[in-house]
Amino acid sequence: MKMILVGPPGSGKGTQAEKISEKYQIPHISTGDIFRENIRNQTELGKKAKEIIDRGELVPDEITIDMVKQRLSEDDCKKGYLLDGFPRTIPQAEALEEIDNAEKVIDIEVPDEEIIERITGRRQAEDGKIYHVKFNPPPEDVKAIQRDDDKEDVVINRLKVYHAQTEPIIRFYKEKGIVHEIDGTKSIDEVFSSIMSVLA
Ligand code: AMP
Repeated sequence: MKMILVGPPGSGKGTQAEKISEKYQIPHISTGDIFRENIRNQTELGKKAKEIIDRGELVPDEITIDMVKQRLSEDDCKKGYLLDGFPRTIPQAEALEEIDNAEKVIDIEVPDEEIIERITGRRQAEDGKIYHVKFNPPPEDVKAIQRDDDKEDVVINRLKVYHAQTEPIIRFYKEKGIVHEIDGTKSIDEVFSSIMSVLA
C-alpha cells in the first residue's frame, strides 16, 4: 500500500494519516514533522528550513526530495507507506515517480474559509497534543501554544502556495486515474470512514 495524502494545510491530513497508518501498519511519513524535528534538534537542515517554514513558503525541492528519498529507502517502507505533505510541487511528484510509484492519492478537500478558522485556532501542548480554542479547548492547567506558521498572515500565505504549487499535482495524478476526492469538512470519524471505503 503506497499512498499519498494531499490537501490544504489544516485539512486534517495528519490526523487521518495517523489513523490510516495504525490500521494498515505502514509508516506515516510527514515531511512537515521531519522538518520540525530537525528544527527542534537544531540540525543544519533545521536551520535552513526554519525561516522558510515560518514564512509559510516551501522548502526548496532539492532539499525536500533528498530527505524523502533517504526516508523511503529505509526498511520499514518496503511493504508500503503513507506520505503526508509530500509531494507538494510538480518537480517533487516527478522525482517520486523515479523513486517509486504511488498507488493511491487521497485528496482531502476543505474550503479556504474553514481552513483559516481551523488553523488560526489551533494550539499545541508540550506533549504534542493538538487543541482548538473554539472546538476543543485545552484544559485550564495545560499550556498550549500557537505554531508560528499557524498565525493568520502565514496561513493565508500557505493557502496561496497550496493553490499555486500543490493543486497542480492533483491534476498530475488525476491523469493517472489514481485520485480519490474526500469531503474533509465532515467529522474526523466520517472522513476516516470515507477513506476506508476508498481503500477497501
Ligand atoms: P505541514 O506540517 O505539512 O503543513 O508542513 C509545514 C511546513 O513544512 C510547510 O508549510 C512547508 O514550509 C514545509 N514543508 C513540508 N512539506 C514540504 C514539502 N513537501 N515541500 C516543501 N516544503 C515542505
